[in-house]
Amino acid sequence: MKKLYLFIAIIIVLVSCQTDNKQSEYVLVIQGGAGYGTKKDLSPEREQAYIETLTKVLETGAEILKNNGSSLDAVEASIRIMEDSPLFNAGKGAVFNEKGGNEMDASIMDGKDLNAGAVACVRKIRNPISAARKVMTDSKHVLLVKEGAEEFAEKQGLEMADSSYFFEQHRWDYFQKIKMKKTESFSDKSKKYSTVGAVALDKSGNLAAGTSTGGMTNKMDGRVGDSPIIGAGTYANNNTCAVSATGHGEYIIRNVVAYDISSLMEYKGWTLEKAAGFVIMDKLKKINGGGGVIALDKDGNIAMTFNTKSMIRGYITSDGRMEIIIFEE
Ligand code: ASP
Repeated sequence: MKKLYLFIAIIIVLVSCQTDNKQSEYVLVIQGGAGYGTKKDLSPEREQAYIETLTKVLETGAEILKNNGSSLDAVEASIRIMEDSPLFNAGKGAVFNEKGGNEMDASIMDGKDLNAGAVACVRKIRNPISAARKVMTDSKHVLLVKEGAEEFAEKQGLEMADSSYFFEQHRWDYFQKIKMKKTESFSDKSKKYSTVGAVALDKSGNLAAGTSTGGMTNKMDGRVGDSPIIGAGTYANNNTCAVSATGHGEYIIRNVVAYDISSLMEYKGWTLEKAAGFVIMDKLKKINGGGGVIALDKDGNIAMTFNTKSMIRGYITSDGRMEIIIFEE
């Protein structure tokens, strides 16, 4: 009799777990960069500004997904809002390179057919993520750089902007500070928030990922980070997951971070959480590669994993869950 009760209890637990994990119809996860800032480094006003902008991003993206929009549309729209905000190191708020210019990188990937597009070292495109999407849909290439990418974007009717649009005093002041130290590092306590990204799962079960950045302050002119490199900063595959990375690009490229997470799931059968945990907290951390990822699997499971002190991040799901978090929890 005891055994029967035990059996019934196990069945009840299993059934209720199943209900708790009910797959969300759609999910959007966003990131606003990893860094070493702690709560005391952020004024309440600035924290509030981040929360307000990220709320707008999540609500905009969710509205698209709710109305049967594609994960690609949600990713692009989410990143555009962050690119238009001076708060983030992407688009309007892009950091300065060693020559005092802004060079931006972005990429987007469709998990349905592994199609991808990217731009690197662009100076005049207001929304690099939209240029990346145009490269994917309207060119026969995956990655366009510099003037070639700009000419292409202009021909595609995308909005262009000059250097005065991208000038932000707070970024300039930080550039002056970093110039003294020679290079920006992700282990530097003053390294705060940066790159933006989004991953989404839509109602049709399609995953997409996108990432956009101004790169690293005082980087060499012409330096390309991980964000526009498919497999490093961005990856999406409907069979596994969608990933957007942030952190020290050179380490993320060398470790092919986004694709590594997908591969561990595909070839080893690991869960998203285990794969992201291993790549970020073990592999990257061991070699001092500061950074993190937001990732989403085909069942709507979320991973927001980082080995720095903070990573601006948030998510929204069709079953009404929404959260925005900045620091370590
Ligand atoms: N990953 C970006 C880069 O290296 C920077 C960042 O995430 O903050 O260009």
